[in-house]
Amino acid sequence: MKNNVQIGLWLLLLTGLGIIVYNIWLRETTYPPLPYTQFLSELQQNKILRVHLQGGAISGEDSAGRDFTTYAPEISTLMPLLLAHGVEITAEPPPYEGAGGLAATILPLLLIMGGWFLFSRNRSGGTAFTGNRSKRFTPNSGRRITFDDVAGIAEARQELQEVVEFLKNPERFSRLGGRIPKGVLLQGPPGTGKTLLAKAIAGEASVPFYSMGGSDFVEMFVGVGASRVRELFTEAKKNAPCIIFIDEIDAIGGKRSGGTASGGGDEREQTLNALLVEMDGFGSEETVIVLAATNRPDILDPALLRPGRFDRQVTIPIPDVKGRLKILEVHIKKIRAAKSLNLPEIARSTPGFSGADIANLVNEAALMAARRNKDAVEMEDFDNAKDKIVMGLERKNVVMSEENRRITAYHEAGHAIVAKLLPETDPLHKVTIIPRGRAMGLTQQLPIDDRLTYSREYITNRIKILMGGRIAEELIFNRLTTGASNDILSATEIATRLVCEWGMSETIGPVAYMQEQAGFLGNQSAGRPHSERTAILIDREVKRIISDCCDETRNLLRQHNRLLHQLAEVLLVNETVDAEELDIVFHCYLKELQKEEDMKRQHRCAIA
Ligand code: ADP
Ligand code: MG
Ligand code: ZN
Repeated sequence: MKNNVQIGLWLLLLTGLGIIVYNIWLRETTYPPLPYTQFLSELQQNKILRVHLQGGAISGEDSAGRDFTTYAPEISTLMPLLLAHGVEITAEPPPYEGAGGLAATILPLLLIMGGWFLFSRNRSGGTAFTGNRSKRFTPNSGRRITFDDVAGIAEARQELQEVVEFLKNPERFSRLGGRIPKGVLLQGPPGTGKTLLAKAIAGEASVPFYSMGGSDFVEMFVGVGASRVRELFTEAKKNAPCIIFIDEIDAIGGKRSGGTASGGGDEREQTLNALLVEMDGFGSEETVIVLAATNRPDILDPALLRPGRFDRQVTIPIPDVKGRLKILEVHIKKIRAAKSLNLPEIARSTPGFSGADIANLVNEAALMAARRNKDAVEMEDFDNAKDKIVMGLERKNVVMSEENRRITAYHEAGHAIVAKLLPETDPLHKVTIIPRGRAMGLTQQLPIDDRLTYSREYITNRIKILMGGRIAEELIFNRLTTGASNDILSATEIATRLVCEWGMSETIGPVAYMQEQAGFLGNQSAGRPHSERTAILIDREVKRIISDCCDETRNLLRQHNRLLHQLAEVLLVNETVDAEELDIVFHCYLKELQKEEDMKRQHRCAIA
């Protein structure tokens, strides 16, 4: 390819030079210049038939039919003579002369040559224009990332360990006729460590590792992405065994539109096609494993997942409580942690956090501690960091009206009391009326572990806890506010799942009905479609469950009306009440209740 380019260049240069030389030769040779004096004498003798003037340059024909050229030092004196002798005159403006003339000839030529040069480099996939963006990780450069850096993903790790084995000694596997996998797709929500895992594979396998982001392939210029793919595979095949890693492959691997050529989409399709061609193109004798990562497996073109391409898919889920603890342990090593730090509790209080969230939490906690000039990061810093991450920054500067504060205090107290008094609920962690993010207050519960199954009682109690806030407001202030909209949304969602997904409603029965929800990994089509009539039944059932829960919650809060006032008062004074303080409030209340019972009994006895 390179040689062709050079030959082409030389050809072009020679042609250009040839044209210039030929032009000069034409001018110099075909019309031998006539001395001006001779021209004048011929003119006097009426021997000149016609002339063509171009500035001072004169070309023309004499009466004998011969062409001639000459140069006139002074046109203005010549004109009357030409007219007097009846010479036919044509004229045009003078051309650029000298260096300018030369430049005018050569400059466009140079431009064309330059453009062609760049274009051909582009086609052949050189480095000048497209840029070789793939990063080659050499196993020994920098800090080596290993599987030990990626915590809490035991299953995925085992599967990927196998990939590492393939790369380390491919013969062992191919000897028995097994086909070494070509493509492995890592899929999972953002921040679960897919990129990290790919780097760890490189670190473990000690083979060259070519990494490229999916968006690197998508360029302004059509064809560049495709040529980058080809370039990447050529390079990799030369260095087999090795790994190619395409991060965020959904950037190029999205479903193809199917022929509608539309700008960027067209470019993406070309790139994807090039990738498919390359993946089909190498045989099992070349040990190149293509790793890819995505958090949108649902939008990937099905062609990518066919056998011989990314036929191995490894799912990396959001970590559970044990996973979170392991990830915490990895990241806690990077900071100076206080001895009092209770890692299991941090892990328990961060359900739904991804690995990246946990890494961020540890970092934020360290920053919080540093801001307070502490020597070590303490539990309190983790609490604050978590609040900051979960709810957005504390809006301390937002002044809440006293009225709003009171409503919020009763609302949160309502949640807390229902949670505390009902059985089968998660223990309370803390209650606060400090506004954070968009929430006015917050009642936080700590799940004991990541439950995999829930009892019907647990679920309906969750609905009651959620409704507790709104109902407390209603009981005390006798009016409704918008502060409970999130609670109502969650409660409705839970009730709907209870009916449609978990088959826990008596009227509907244990049948799973389809709901419109975008589940991760595209499992949203679970359940059967249903008729209009069933839809009405489902609606009615959801409404009934919620209103039953509301009634029970209302009764509970009425019965413990005094506790509601007490807790709300504590909240108004302290703003935040943690689990221990909550216990004290409840304990005092129950003791009081007991005392009253006793007194009532004594009173009754006295009467009797
Ligand atoms: P993804 O590619 O899945 O979006 P990353 O690999 O970019 O996630 O993760 C971002 C960061 O989060 C990592 O650099 C690491 O610090 C942290 N992290 C994520 N998952 C884990 C894990 N399982 N173990 C340890 N750290 C993790
Ligand atoms: Mg990533
Ligand atoms: Zn609420």
